[in-house]
Amino acid sequence: MFENLSERLSGVFDRLTKQGALSEDDVKTALREVRVALLEADVSLPVARDFVKAVQDKATGQAVTKSVTPGQQVVKIVHDELVHVLTGDEDPGKLKIDNPPAPILMVGLQGSGKTTTTAKLAKRLKERDGKRVLMASLDVNRPAAMEQLQILGVQIGVDTLPIVKGEDPVQIAKRAKTQASLGGYDVYMLDTAGRLHIDEELIAQAAAVRDVANPRETLLVVDGLTGQDAVNVATEFDDKIGVTGVVLTRMDGDGRGGAALSMRAVTGKPIRFVGLGEKMDALETFEPERISGRILG
Ligand code: GDP
Repeated sequence: MFENLSERLSGVFDRLTKQGALSEDDVKTALREVRVALLEADVSLPVARDFVKAVQDKATGQAVTKSVTPGQQVVKIVHDELVHVLTGDEDPGKLKIDNPPAPILMVGLQGSGKTTTTAKLAKRLKERDGKRVLMASLDVNRPAAMEQLQILGVQIGVDTLPIVKGEDPVQIAKRAKTQASLGGYDVYMLDTAGRLHIDEELIAQAAAVRDVANPRETLLVVDGLTGQDAVNVATEFDDKIGVTGVVLTRMDGDGRGGAALSMRAVTGKPIRFVGLGEKMDALETFEPERISGRILG
């Protein structure tokens, strides 16, 4: 399907004269291939450009280690730079949820995997961190979404706030807070409504909930397969609501993971977790090394 970047680069370097250090021309030739590989991996053009420039500055004049070919050397420089850009938090899996009950606001578009991710994360907090978690759905326009969270809660053994008909999202958020305090929960997760597109109502609702809940973490869930769209969604949510981290879903799909690089480079927000399937344990802490390997192919 895709030609592996390492193979591509060794092809390029085979045609070049052997030298002790990477010359500017060598690096330029190699970086054209890197740029193509990044674009194929769904990295946006401006991000790919900036990235290539950063690598060019680092690579030019670098001595080629005896044990590797120039192509391998460039791949290593590219890999290190990818990891550097992708690293946003020392420990992306560690959420700031010290003072109980800590609210976590989950935001994102409909279909991004928000409800699934809410439940996956609740399960993780319960099993790995021993937290008592309460989940609440605020999607009052979609009763099916509220029921879905309840069903997942039963499945993973995490409590959900009972559904009360006729409440608005702010009332539900307040009830969740009270229930979480009275019930001795460590964390309560608010699964906000999603729409197919960002609209004023969606943002106004999420902002109103944010203002009453005062969340410790606001996690944006985006579909990792949507590339540049995911980055646009993140930029807008961050501008209007303020997000503390991103969860990329569907990273088990065919995508090459380039959205992660664009996401990090454009929004500056740390990627915290990746969704790797529909099952409740298919959520992993984001690892820059792994995504870098995937982008490079
Ligand atoms: P929401 O509308 O944003 O709440 O989306 P849902 O949580 O209902 O998810 C929509 C669909 O995507 C469901 O069928 C999920 O099982 C599926 N889904 C969620 N996360 C992932 C993921 O990481 N990988 C895959 N393959 N499917 C996912």
